[in-house]
Amino acid sequence: MKKTTFVTLEQLRAFSQTIPTPFHLYDEQAIRENARRVNQAFAWNKGFKEYFAVKATPNPSIMQILHEEGCGMDCSSLTELMLCDRVGIRGEDIMFSSNDTPKQDFQLAEQLGAIINLDDITHIQSLLDAIGYIPEKISCRYNPGGNFEISNTIMDTPGEAKYGMTKAQIMQAAKILKERGAKEMGIHAFLASNTTTNDYYPTLARQLFSLAVEIQRETGLPVTFINLSGGVGIPYRPDQEPADIMKIGAGVQRAYEEVLTPAGMEVKLCTEMGRFMLGPYGCLVTKAIHEKHTHKEYIGVDACACDLMRPAMYGAYHHITVAGKEDEICDHMYDIVGSLCENNDKFAINRMLPKIDKGDFLIIHDTGAHGHAMGYNYNGKLRSAEVLLQPDGTARLIRRAETPEDYFATLDF
Ligand SMILES: *Cc1c(COP(=O)(O)O)cnc(C)c1O
Repeated sequence: MKKTTFVTLEQLRAFSQTIPTPFHLYDEQAIRENARRVNQAFAWNKGFKEYFAVKATPNPSIMQILHEEGCGMDCSSLTELMLCDRVGIRGEDIMFSSNDTPKQDFQLAEQLGAIINLDDITHIQSLLDAIGYIPEKISCRYNPGGNFEISNTIMDTPGEAKYGMTKAQIMQAAKILKERGAKEMGIHAFLASNTTTNDYYPTLARQLFSLAVEIQRETGLPVTFINLSGGVGIPYRPDQEPADIMKIGAGVQRAYEEVLTPAGMEVKLCTEMGRFMLGPYGCLVTKAIHEKHTHKEYIGVDACACDLMRPAMYGAYHHITVAGKEDEICDHMYDIVGSLCENNDKFAINRMLPKIDKGDFLIIHDTGAHGHAMGYNYNGKLRSAEVLLQPDGTARLIRRAETPEDYFATLDF
């Protein structure tokens, strides 16, 4: 499938008059439409809620848009909780799915009325130490270990993941929580990342539904919500098929009707998607500022791995479009590089693209989630701006670029 951009060269020229490159640009209309599709896919489940994984795109304007579309927020740190509070998102609109959790984080989560999701059985005591009681509604994270397989294909390796409790531990945790005053519990698991198969959620859901039946039968603590967490992927490559959220929702419904309904259980479902909610609806806009012809052909751009870490960190593919040259033949092979003194600072290696000239805008696709959020300051690089493309076609700055003053703010000379 041909990957298309949501912004034109003319728009980029106009926006860059006031907002210099590089910047991350987000498509508000597409974010809203996608959130509506997610809610529609799970509309059969009374009480369904998507808790957007704040870590993917921790920007108040983005959080506000998703909240307006009925989403809650999934947090895992103190400042993510503070962000929600500042945006006016509180109470059960926050899922606190942390791990290795500091005491003060538990305390703020409790103050905000968030649903607390315990990563480990020992966190029951940590929570008691932090807030002095066990909330009536609480959640536990499950990790079955081993490999997570769908039709004999290994999707991921939960046995190697630091998260969650074993089955024996989660059963035990339910008993302890009940004794300590819990009236209802939720269960949560995140067993595979960036899956584009429509079978991930249904397969995971079936496992969690069976576990929920077992926990409720054995401990008498009602399991009232089940959290499928994140992991639904996006097609970064042009040849990848996108996940079909309507089919995913229907697959989960089938598992629900086959496992929970016969057990007489009524359970609210939730998800904590980050990538699926934002990934395709953001891009990194950067400008070609150098060309270099040595042992290879290089195009140097004004963004670097500090603006988008995924290619350097995971060797991740991000599609690149040269704005205004969408229909030109890709007959030039380039490495597209940033300016870090690190040889992995390359957005693309041996990529076939149209001839690039200095001053061209390069659009790096699918940076809406885990893009700007993973930014860092190595080499004294300053984090870029974030810009919202609004439904009327105008751009709004939703985070200014850092200045040297920001970089120096924590230093003492
Ligand atoms: C990262 C994370 C998510 C979101 O994952 P995506 O792959 O972006 O969907 C959800 N929940 C938890 C607990 C996470 O750590």
